[in-house]
Amino acid sequence: MFNNANTFGAMATAPPAREPARQVDHLIIGAGFAGLCAAIKLQEAGETDFVVIEKGSDVGGTWRDNTYPGAECDVPSQLYSYSFAPNPEWSRSFSPQPEIQAYIKRVADESGTLDRFVFETVATDARWDDDRQRWVVETTGETYLAKTVISGAGGLSEPKLPEIEGIETFQGELFHSARWNHDVDLTGKRVAVIGTGASAIQIVPAIQKKVGHLDVYQRTAPYVIPRNDRPYTGIEKLAFKRIPGVQSLYRDAIYWGRETYVPGFTLLPKLAWPAKQLALKNIQRGIKDPELRRKVTPTFEIGCKRILLSNTYYPALDADNVDLVTDPIAKVTGDAIVTEDGVERPIDVLIVATGFYTTELPITEHITGRSGQTLADRWRDSGMQAYKGTTVADFPNLFFIVGPNTGLGHSSMVFMIESQVTYIVDAIRTMRAHDYGAIEVTQEAVTEFNDDVQRRMKRTVWTTGGCASWYLDSHGKNTTLWPRSTFAFRGLLAKFDVAAYRVSAPVPAPQAKQEVPA
Ligand code: NAP
Repeated sequence: MFNNANTFGAMATAPPAREPARQVDHLIIGAGFAGLCAAIKLQEAGETDFVVIEKGSDVGGTWRDNTYPGAECDVPSQLYSYSFAPNPEWSRSFSPQPEIQAYIKRVADESGTLDRFVFETVATDARWDDDRQRWVVETTGETYLAKTVISGAGGLSEPKLPEIEGIETFQGELFHSARWNHDVDLTGKRVAVIGTGASAIQIVPAIQKKVGHLDVYQRTAPYVIPRNDRPYTGIEKLAFKRIPGVQSLYRDAIYWGRETYVPGFTLLPKLAWPAKQLALKNIQRGIKDPELRRKVTPTFEIGCKRILLSNTYYPALDADNVDLVTDPIAKVTGDAIVTEDGVERPIDVLIVATGFYTTELPITEHITGRSGQTLADRWRDSGMQAYKGTTVADFPNLFFIVGPNTGLGHSSMVFMIESQVTYIVDAIRTMRAHDYGAIEVTQEAVTEFNDDVQRRMKRTVWTTGGCASWYLDSHGKNTTLWPRSTFAFRGLLAKFDVAAYRVSAPVPAPQAKQEVPA
């Protein structure tokens, strides 16, 4: 139905147990914003012996995969871009997906790192070999023996199918928002979209005029505020190109504007009252039908789930060819969706915009640490946790970008990615300077850091706001979001703090092209 394999793949088949291993200093997994940033910054630090493994055939990660109609970023591009690669060519304040993907490709092309990217290759297993102080990483291509592994596999890369009775029996076209099937012509068709999250609210207005009839299945009404998007004027674009500092002024203004949301999310949800009024007015402005207005009015505190941005979603829902269905789905048949009230709505195409695996990540089943335990087992009871969202006890020389509790509800993940890459590159620099073979964060440091994160989490709107969300794991613990300002995060990761780590002297380098034991 759709490919659920990630760059660190749950569905890939394992390569032969024995084969010559290729040695590299650093193995980066994923070629999205995170993996590319790691490659560029390692190269700048003189760490040129690295390989980037990528499941897809191009760079871009989530921006390569999410090609659904209407895909745009809800963080302005001046901020949602690398600080070291400003782009004077942005056409508007919030960029559409093709522009972001083109930007990532251009940065990759100009970085001089692409010769070390290996595409269409899935890492299937990673095991720490303590005797050799190396990660043995099996992939669908070569096997690698790497001093460090940097995971840039991302938190929103594994599409989640809804568990609905009979969905596998559907005979029409069915695809996930992140695996859009562009071969399917929606013109005049009866289409259903399941989900009303960030992806769905962009898809619905983009396809509404084209389809014959559209049923939108809503489980929880989201808050949707207006999107203050506009094209840049010619003068602005000229200024971005010609006047030094103008773009960084825009960036700084957006950054600090966004950062003012943090107290409303993390300390005093009442501060978000103006945003709630904006969202409620957006409903009034976009929808005439009083019953539909009632159905789309959220029943939890604003910010508890991601706040969405759109000027076109509500008018699309109010259109004559669209029905918002709020009765729970009972089952899917060969050609229809049946709700619990017994109504059957026939469809030709079923689009599931039901999000991603975010807390119980399948990749963790495939990473085995020093004591032989997988990351999935290590996190089974505690939930995902890492030191500064980056390192995990028992998993030496392994670094996560966009790891546990690094997500944001208000600002640019690229800012967080750059903060983590600074820390990781400094760790690698420290290892080289002091000739450490391995560094492993202590469990005490991990526990202390996470106790603080969870203590802060208690008063956030994500915990108190009265909603269920993908921010929370199956124990109700928020293991995805960062509960402080982004500048606090940056400060914490500004320098590698070796005191939180156990360090070991190096063992002699294994011979090149070594046999990997079965
Ligand atoms: P999402 O926010 O997780 O939304 C999934 C939607 O599917 C929710 O409405 C959810 O309902 C519904 N759903 C899930 N399972 C269902 C089921 N079994 N039956 C009925 N409904 C079901 O996923 P997403 O929209 O793909 O967005 C994921 C994240 O990607 C976003 O939060 C954002 O971080 C990022 N994103 C960003 C942009 C952007 O920048 N513009 C665009 C797209 C995505 P409930 O609310 O009841 O769970």
